[in-house]
Amino acid sequence: MLHVQNLHKRYGSLEVVRDVGFHVPAGHCFGLLGPNGAGKTTTLRCCLGLTRPDSGDITLAGLPVPLRAREARVRVGVVPQFDTLDPDFTVAENLVVFGRYFGMSRRECEARVQPLLEFAGLSDKAEAKIEALSGGMKRRLTLARAMVNNPQILFMDEPTTGLDPQARHLVWDRLKALLTEGRTIVLTTHFMDEAQRLCNRVAIMDHGSIITESEPRTLIDREIEAVVIEVYGEGVEVWFEAHGKPLSDRAELAGDTAFCYLNDPDPLMKTLEGQPELRALRRSANLEDVFLKLTGRDLRD
Ligand code: ADP
Repeated sequence: MLHVQNLHKRYGSLEVVRDVGFHVPAGHCFGLLGPNGAGKTTTLRCCLGLTRPDSGDITLAGLPVPLRAREARVRVGVVPQFDTLDPDFTVAENLVVFGRYFGMSRRECEARVQPLLEFAGLSDKAEAKIEALSGGMKRRLTLARAMVNNPQILFMDEPTTGLDPQARHLVWDRLKALLTEGRTIVLTTHFMDEAQRLCNRVAIMDHGSIITESEPRTLIDREIEAVVIEVYGEGVEVWFEAHGKPLSDRAELAGDTAFCYLNDPDPLMKTLEGQPELRALRRSANLEDVFLKLTGRDLRD
């Protein structure tokens, strides 16, 4: 559904996309992860024909981009990072007006409204004004709006940023339903649990390049030891030097928390006994551990 090869994009002296390539088969969810400024949005914009790359090959829904981007976009839905709903229109009108951009007749658009509102859990909000909707409802309406042209592939830039946990789960549920129908999703996200749940494959980008790409589980198994023990509390620095570092396969002190990555946690857990001032959390390794290992803990903006 989407093929990207040798993509390059430069702004002035800064190469913001550097030899990026990936393939997304139909029915898959592909996650593009990376710190702020990594080049994710620029890559997505190139895929949609909204930004012209300096070089590279892109095929979207079977059509070359940017050459035939307009035609390709008819088969594509886009959920932008920020909601761009029209506050002058009702919920239902927002869907109709958006459908008209795709050259659909008013009758066609109106026929889509009820099923789309049902999909978004907004059936009773058809006549509501946008300002009367909660953040979660707006997000779901934006998702429904992206579906108005019945797209085969959806691009989503941080689809759940700013949502509370309940609203986030609802959006995940809707995205899973779209995948079950055989649609393709390309998303960017800062939430590693979101990527781990939804994505068949993820690529981690940094400084314009893809540094790794795989199934989430494979990445975790490949990059991170089986167990992570997080330790914090009074005296953690002393404990870290005496036990945390020597008994871990890999360990780091970030702020006031020691992160110990290891395959055999028992010897390290023993050193925490009789130290009530130290709190420990023992958990399985996850995609966030991979992300932080590969891109570092430094702030990017
Ligand atoms: P991400 O989505 O991963 O946060 P972006 O693709 O938005 O990253 O940005 C990558 C880099 O490109 C950043 O350094 C950003 O400042 C720069 N950039 C993005 N768009 C433009 C533009 N239109 N002109 C100049 N620089 C840009």
